[in-house]
Amino acid sequence: MSSSKVIQHDLNTIADSIAPLAQKLSGKTLLISGGAGFLGNYFIGAIDHLNRHTLSKPCRVISIDNFSTGIKYRVEEGPNFKAIKHNIKEPIQIDEDVDYIIHAAGIASPKFYRELKIETIDVATLGTKNMLGLAKEKKAKSMLYFSSSEVYGDPDPRHIPTPETYHGAVSCTGPRANYDESKRLGETYCVAYFETHNVPVKMVRPFNVYGPGMRLDDYRVIPNFIASILKGTPLPVYGGGNSKRTFCYITDAINGFFRVLLSEHHGHPFNVGNDQNEITMKQLAEIIVELFDSNAKIDEPPGLNDAYSQADPKRRCPDLTKMRTLLKYEPKVDLRTGLKRFMDWAIEAHPEYAKKAYPLTIV
Ligand code: UDP
Repeated sequence: MSSSKVIQHDLNTIADSIAPLAQKLSGKTLLISGGAGFLGNYFIGAIDHLNRHTLSKPCRVISIDNFSTGIKYRVEEGPNFKAIKHNIKEPIQIDEDVDYIIHAAGIASPKFYRELKIETIDVATLGTKNMLGLAKEKKAKSMLYFSSSEVYGDPDPRHIPTPETYHGAVSCTGPRANYDESKRLGETYCVAYFETHNVPVKMVRPFNVYGPGMRLDDYRVIPNFIASILKGTPLPVYGGGNSKRTFCYITDAINGFFRVLLSEHHGHPFNVGNDQNEITMKQLAEIIVELFDSNAKIDEPPGLNDAYSQADPKRRCPDLTKMRTLLKYEPKVDLRTGLKRFMDWAIEAHPEYAKKAYPLTIV
């Protein structure tokens, strides 16, 4: 069980948001890849919370992770949680029944996917194929594949907010291609396994999900700006800060992911995000300065690597009509609230920064 009060509160929120749908997990076994990462740990924590408070019979979780970017598990191993160290690009044999499968392993930060170029492709393609093979072999009730809003590349402004039907504007050789194109092929594998073998797989396309448990050295924009505040260094805004993004707090995102996993929309992709707060990165930096340290400086260095300096998508905002209509999904956490929760957690998790007396709002 996590010792973080912010994360405990989040898990409570997630459990409330998916009851009574979550009863489908009662007495079942769920296998997840990437369980030691940011998203995976929230799934495992949410199921642990459901086991303690909600489910009539516990849901057993098996996690596969090779710790390439994941850090550690927040739930301890025991009868309902087993951790396997394995790189999912290699096939794996599991000697027990599996009811649900989540393929959340992946290398999502542009900093790391530009360093681990081939590993990034392998986990989204070979890894997805191996997970689909397991879903087929185990006759799983449902599988969830973690695709990405990056499948849309640098969308034409006429297609923003972007619906699932937009085909994308993506380079197959550019600086983001190893991530974008492998995520796209992963989706193609999913559809092919559904159409050929009837594997009940669904795909989610997350839009800039953030929250507690992200590595402060993840280098994505929110952890990087918060880390800068904590270290007292200027917030690095790349490319003039004109690119726009929307940000989805983790509790809303996990609620959306469970809704897709536990649905019957086999072979379908779903956007998961928050469509309420499309802002420029300059504005994001200004909000963070205003919230946490009015003396902090904003800097404009060149992008960290070619994914930023040559291929930064200009905008990203989800069209959530499909999620709202089919799955009754509604994001609830506004950006300022989510940022405060992130900061509260960062100080909880990194006591070396606690001397910075930001007003902790939630803990
Ligand atoms: N960005 C920034 N400073 C940072 C990290 C990112 O200005 O320290 C910008 C980046 O150029 C991009 C946006 O923030 O426009 C989001 O970047 P991130 O790596 O979080 O995710 P992406 O959506 O690009 O995959």
